[in-house]
Amino acid sequence: MPDKMKKAKAPRRKQDELTQRAESENYNYRHQQLRKQLLQNFPICTACNKAWSTDADHLRYPATSIEDYEALCNKCHMRREHEKHRGQC
Ligand SMILES: [Zn+2]
Repeated sequence: MPDKMKKAKAPRRKQDELTQRAESENYNYRHQQLRKQLLQNFPICTACNKAWSTDADHLRYPATSIEDYEALCNKCHMRREHEKHRGQC
């Protein structure tokens, strides 16, 4: 029989990390819901108007409604991300 696992007292920092993780999981859930809604409202990519939209691109952080996103196809999203980051390096 294995020994009972000793319950270690979680240090303060550990608790904060857990809280932060819970908050980000909550945000991810909301993001998934908004993304779904966005893609239903805008089934075609708003950048090229040709491909089906698959991605929700953030216009603002933190996003609270679908107006904080733009519906893009994967190709346009990749290009957009590339343009966003180009000036930063
Ligand atoms: Zn596109």
